[in-house]
Amino acid sequence: MSDAARMPLVFFGHGSPMIALQSNETSRAWSKIASGLPTPRAILCISAHWETRGAAVTAMLAPRTIHDFGASFPKALFEMQYPAPGDPALAARVAELLAPTPVTLDEGEWGLDHGAWSVLSKAYPAADIPVVQLSLDVGLGPAERFEVGRRLGPLRDEGVLVMGTGNIVHNLGAMNWGEQGCTPFDWASRFLAEVRNAILADAPQRVIDFARLGRDAQLALPSQEHFWPLLYVLGARTPQDRARLVNDRIEHGSLAMTSVVLEAPAASA
Ligand code: ZN
Repeated sequence: MSDAARMPLVFFGHGSPMIALQSNETSRAWSKIASGLPTPRAILCISAHWETRGAAVTAMLAPRTIHDFGASFPKALFEMQYPAPGDPALAARVAELLAPTPVTLDEGEWGLDHGAWSVLSKAYPAADIPVVQLSLDVGLGPAERFEVGRRLGPLRDEGVLVMGTGNIVHNLGAMNWGEQGCTPFDWASRFLAEVRNAILADAPQRVIDFARLGRDAQLALPSQEHFWPLLYVLGARTPQDRARLVNDRIEHGSLAMTSVVLEAPAASA
């Protein structure tokens, strides 16, 4: 694949799984991001919704669609299927790139969770591109997640789209349902601004060290799993990549929908 274009990187800011049944500003943003990228031969997806002890990667031929949300969601959402094939060879390649860190090749446990398929059903609705998920090892710190991303970087030259799906600001308990488009909380705006500026300045250490933002960070991320996928994506960045923010806004006061696209400018020569 040496003559293939280097694949961009994407972090998708996601929301309720209900979006899979809807068309709105966010779903249209995801479609537009995907349609502007070279078509990947496979996708490696790092979702906020798969946490494991030690790393695992889906290695089955046909990953099942997992409906990992509460029973209050409508039947139509439980009936959603995203029948993209798996890619056992890519799973093995991920394990090879992360060695000597052990990676479990999961052939039956996981599949595609809603963090993955709610986005993919809009970005790649044909479900014809193989998808592999890499889990979030709960034992890692932010710098280690960034390092895992760095080691995944070679996949970009092998036609693989490395994508994360989560949120830069994710405080469901603070969400304000009282009005449409309610004003973001101050701490949410400040935290998003700092992370946004660090990404635009290609200053990843400022993102890795997000806890230095103290109370703003604690409020923006009462738990951190939705932020973690961003660290993997930033780890695979190279100096040529420019950052582009899409759908950069906060919903319900405390949920950032911001997506990040990292790509090198097209060669003009
Ligand atoms: Zn989520």
